[in-house]
Amino acid sequence: MSALHTPPLKLGVSACFFHADPARPIFTGKTLQYIEQSVAHWAMSQGDLAVMIPAPAADARLADYAQWLDGLVLMGGSDVWPGSYGEQPMDPRWQGDRIRDAYEMALARAFVAAGKPVFGVCRGLQLLNVAFGGTLLQDIPTQRPEALAHRDAGLYDQLFHPVQIEPGTRLAQVYAGQLQSTVNSVHHQGIKDLAPGFVVEARCPTDGMIEAVRLQTGPWVAAVQWHPEFHLTTQASAAARPDLIDDGLLLTDFRQACHAARALPD
Ligand code: MN
Repeated sequence: MSALHTPPLKLGVSACFFHADPARPIFTGKTLQYIEQSVAHWAMSQGDLAVMIPAPAADARLADYAQWLDGLVLMGGSDVWPGSYGEQPMDPRWQGDRIRDAYEMALARAFVAAGKPVFGVCRGLQLLNVAFGGTLLQDIPTQRPEALAHRDAGLYDQLFHPVQIEPGTRLAQVYAGQLQSTVNSVHHQGIKDLAPGFVVEARCPTDGMIEAVRLQTGPWVAAVQWHPEFHLTTQASAAARPDLIDDGLLLTDFRQACHAARALPD
């Protein structure tokens, strides 16, 4: 089949939660599941379709979503519950979202089991690291006081830092010839112990913080600590930032894996 007639990929995006809130003036006391617009637009930016996968009443249906869709994007959002990696929250503010953790871990397992690629964004990187047996820093400023600021409440998605891609990795192939770049940084947690089987593909060169990872063999699982979807709007409004990493290349790499998975017999 020629590329011209290849049907668009169907990309699933994991949901964020607004848990039931009796004080919310709209959908009072109801749980909302939602995705942020720019992650959907990023997933669709090369001609594919994106759908949110709601957390079902039972995990069993997730296997059907994994069969139906061609790949999964785990989007950013709340912290991962420290209990997921055997720790107590050091601060009540860092308890994370256990409900979303359980849903996304089941979702990631379903896609991996179906042989469908999984790409993690920010929290998605942290979730995958924990799902595969790694641990997290609950709060970078507390546990790595020497580290660069990786989050600034005022600057939000306008905080940037350098990123260095590790030579010899798949990401180095994707960004051939441009291993130094700049990314946004909107996270106060990060990888402490890397999950077994994963390789670090990029770091912040200033403090060594892990910024991109990939499962070395087996299922296609990769993730970045920055938000590729936030650069879209930044790039549109600011030609003044030609130093920002080209996030289209990340998506192309993920899409190629999705196409390859789709070509395999069930
Ligand atoms: Mn960062």
